[in-house]
Amino acid sequence: QLPLALLLSLLTGYIVWLATANRMSFSWQIGYGLSAHEFMVYCQPLIDSRTGNCDGIELLLRWHNSRQGWIPPDLFIPLAERHNLIAPLTRFVLNETVRHLPQLPHTADFHIAINVAASHFHNQAIIDDLQKIWWPANPLPRLVVELTERDALPLMDQSVVAQLQQSGIRVAIDDFGTGHSSLSYLKTLSPDVLKLDKIFTAAIGTDAINATVTDMVISLAQRLHIRLVAEGVETAEQASYLRQRGVDTLQGYYYARPMPLEAFPAWLAQHQAS
Ligand code: C2E
Ligand code: CA
Ligand code: CA
Ligand code: CA
Repeated sequence: QLPLALLLSLLTGYIVWLATANRMSFSWQIGYGLSAHEFMVYCQPLIDSRTGNCDGIELLLRWHNSRQGWIPPDLFIPLAERHNLIAPLTRFVLNETVRHLPQLPHTADFHIAINVAASHFHNQAIIDDLQKIWWPANPLPRLVVELTERDALPLMDQSVVAQLQQSGIRVAIDDFGTGHSSLSYLKTLSPDVLKLDKIFTAAIGTDAINATVTDMVISLAQRLHIRLVAEGVETAEQASYLRQRGVDTLQGYYYARPMPLEAFPAWLAQHQAS
């Protein structure tokens, strides 16, 4: 089964990582990587299921380490969170995006989604960073903050979520249906968007139990009037299943793989034209 194989390979990678790099050298490597331009911002198109048009992108961080090559985000993001290094990485993503804004679409419905770790919500740090980096930018596209839950979110962070929403930013719960991103967040955080984890998309037509969860999350989101994004759409069958059930936004290799931010304008020109 794919998720289990993925989990195992991540786990071995993680153990190898722990064996080869101690805590100090890991934080040093991230700091060095930032100064040595080893990090890159990639983006993946988000597709409006009704029109088939791209109406946004999700920003995804990439790290090409001089010694170890490509390091997957599923490996370095959790470690960065644990070493309190996630905020500088998020600031890097914000800065790079602001630098590329002139080349990105400026239509009212185009939005940019960024992944923000829950730890970045403490002491309103994310608000401070948006104030310094994002809000001064002009023109300013609509921002969606995707909140990934690795550790349960403390109650006090609710107010930060509310502040983001009051300033026009949409808040999405990432990987919905897995881990800590539980039903209780629907009530405490009032998210604008749910992102259905890719294991549920992969279950369509293959795994009866997870496919039932997929259907339940779809109807839950619809009843609560929360926008729904399905991740990991890889086949035409999955796309049409999700479209028929009214899922708002589709994302996955079926439409486009993540690409460097620089490559997106050319991809968009070709995609919207065809
Ligand atoms: P995520 O936020 O759930 O991002 C979606 C992941 O699914 C990405 O993996 C993307 O490349 C992958 N993906 C997209 N379409 C498909 C598909 O059709 N099939 C499959 N199998 N996978 C697909 P990626 O880029 O490796 O990122 C992994 C995770 O690392 C992200 O999961 C996110 O939690 C975290 N991450 C990435 N960039 C950042 C960042 O800038 N900040 C933070 N805090 N986390 C990040
Ligand atoms: Ca995400
Ligand atoms: Ca996700
Ligand atoms: Ca994920």
